[in-house]
Amino acid sequence: MTNYADCTYCGGEVVEKKIDYDYRREKHLMVVNNVPAGVCRQCGEKYFKPGVLKQMDEIYHDIFDRHQKPKRTLTVPAVSL
Ligand SMILES: [Zn+2]
Repeated sequence: MTNYADCTYCGGEVVEKKIDYDYRREKHLMVVNNVPAGVCRQCGEKYFKPGVLKQMDEIYHDIFDRHQKPKRTLTVPAVSL
């Protein structure tokens, strides 16, 4: 089930995990839980399969363009330094 190539940055082994991912695009941020992703064991770089990226892209458009209500909404602090 894990068929990720080795990490392009450090050559480490990439294993599949379920992660929480901050999907950022334009001025929007969407938190996606339970995303299957390849994670490098050495440097932690994340890799997504095209189908997973497509799914997140779809959800993004559902929420921000088609105004579907997400299951949950988080409030995040915003600060400046
Ligand atoms: Zn790596």
